[in-house]
Amino acid sequence: MDKTIKFAKSELDGYYEKITGNKNAAIALSVDPGLRTKFYSEEYDALFDDAFVIDVRGGKGTIAGINRRSVLLGVYKFFTALGCRFLNPTPEGERLVRLAPGDCTVRLDFKPDNRHRGITIEGAVSAENVLDIIDWAPKAGFSAYFLQFMDSFTFFERWYTHENNEYASGEYTRAQNAANMKKIVRAIKLRDMIYHAVGHGWTCEAVGYRAAGWHKVDESVIGCKRELLAMTGGERKFFGGIPLNTHLCYGNPEARASFTESVAAYVKRHSEVDVLHVWLADNYNNFCECEKCAEFGPPDQYVRLLNELDARLTADGSNVKIVFLIYYELLWPPEVFRFENPGRFIMMFAPITRTFTNSFLQDGRMPALAGALPEFRLNEIKLLTDTDANLAFLVEWQKLFRGDSFVFDYHLMWDIYKDYGNLSLARTVFEDMKGLNALGTRGFISCQLQRAFFPNGLCMYVLSRALFGGGEDFSALAGEYFSAAFGQNAALAREFFETVSGLFDYKKIRGELPLDKAFAKGMEEAPAALEFYRAAFQNARPENAAEAQSLSHALIFIGFLEPLADMLCLKARNAPKELLQEKFARFEKLLYETEPEIQSVLDGYFYQLILKGYFEADVPVDAEA
Ligand SMILES: [Zn+2]
Repeated sequence: MDKTIKFAKSELDGYYEKITGNKNAAIALSVDPGLRTKFYSEEYDALFDDAFVIDVRGGKGTIAGINRRSVLLGVYKFFTALGCRFLNPTPEGERLVRLAPGDCTVRLDFKPDNRHRGITIEGAVSAENVLDIIDWAPKAGFSAYFLQFMDSFTFFERWYTHENNEYASGEYTRAQNAANMKKIVRAIKLRDMIYHAVGHGWTCEAVGYRAAGWHKVDESVIGCKRELLAMTGGERKFFGGIPLNTHLCYGNPEARASFTESVAAYVKRHSEVDVLHVWLADNYNNFCECEKCAEFGPPDQYVRLLNELDARLTADGSNVKIVFLIYYELLWPPEVFRFENPGRFIMMFAPITRTFTNSFLQDGRMPALAGALPEFRLNEIKLLTDTDANLAFLVEWQKLFRGDSFVFDYHLMWDIYKDYGNLSLARTVFEDMKGLNALGTRGFISCQLQRAFFPNGLCMYVLSRALFGGGEDFSALAGEYFSAAFGQNAALAREFFETVSGLFDYKKIRGELPLDKAFAKGMEEAPAALEFYRAAFQNARPENAAEAQSLSHALIFIGFLEPLADMLCLKARNAPKELLQEKFARFEKLLYETEPEIQSVLDGYFYQLILKGYFEADVPVDAEA
């Protein structure tokens, strides 16, 4: 039997036994390519497109998928339709129903709302964290997983060395990383998920340097081809000392040839990769300022390079899909070059500097966009937070590239720890997922922390549901989440998170509005409100492991919010920085002491990073406060 179908069968039997007590479900699993005519008329892509039919009456019947992955997705959807909920990637996060076999009836024809549904590795992670989220992903309807960079080393290194954490330490080697990557790719393939790879790093490979992440290096010790690097500030050197942030001199044919050679060599070595991301350097205002590069702007240089790469891959007989990235300078569309073989490419819109306090759409519709794009000035671009301003670039690109595309965005990368209660952010996530088709795109790859399920898992719940299909109303979907996570205490829990979102105002903490008098007053009143919910949650009687976990996380969260409210109050009143530093050091100790208990749902590395950055930064404060 095929390994994915065998896995789907073991998942089916395992969950069926947990909910009915009966072993070996009398449900046949099959791949039926004929479903194509049922679900797809013309635009069908065998690599990406899912669909399945569930026909089970009284515990007997069939689940048929258009491909192997769709069979697995169908198995999980069967249990979801019966009332099971996969709230987070921990064992306690599975809320299963109890049913008699005779009550296991589901009849469903399902085609996802979006073709591209993926999660990207980010944050700090152990191998177990990544294996857990890959296991969870198809339960929530995801179809793809993206391992960034040549070997994703940096994300694991942060966790295993406990970077920035003075209370823990550890080591992580390239050999351990290679073993972990092998296990992870095997887990992706077992589920027949679409494997996306790399992204940044090609510019480094082209000069003979293997970038592990955004590390600063002493370039005097690296014998790289310096003459191929971009010239910035009159010198060809690593931009800010960071190879990953350094472009090449794309006007130099030798640099382009070295770039395409690196990609082509990688493609030959990695036939397991389904979708290869070919991005340039990270960061912005770092393109080459030399005479050879003056003829074309960055987007034209990028498209010319991608055309050369396509020709090389075609000559090599490879039809691997290539994702190109539009963000920072590359948001401006090219003026001269066009894609010679658009079918090779998928456009990825990554509005990395946008705000998340509102969604792209207005009242569920594409907003009316005003006027022309801002003028492009080499290495003097300004970052735009306004969503309309970002969207205007996508619209211009769509006029000249009509191929496949998806949005790559960062809702759960930084803002998950800026909107403390997560309720405001969850609404933006939901509206953005619902708007993907209206934007003319075909899905979403979430660039996010893997452990993004604290203080609650609402954002991931609405993200996955809205992306996969179903759940038309945010409030109802949030209600569904809180019911599954908190049972009889759902209303209390929702009220608690709404109270937190009200007091710890997202726009003010994000710096979009000043910390004013009302905010400071709210922070003074917060301890009493938090004490009320602490007592209520302590007295609540959980009826299962999922509820016990949700309540425990809410209580830990209250323990974090108390010192945070104190610090925010001081910040709103312009307290001396030394005092805030001292208080933050105590908070950090609490965080790291608690981390082992909640590390599967909270990225402690990023929680510390985001909050520390906030308390150290100068933020707008209303002098009257
Ligand atoms: Zn140049």
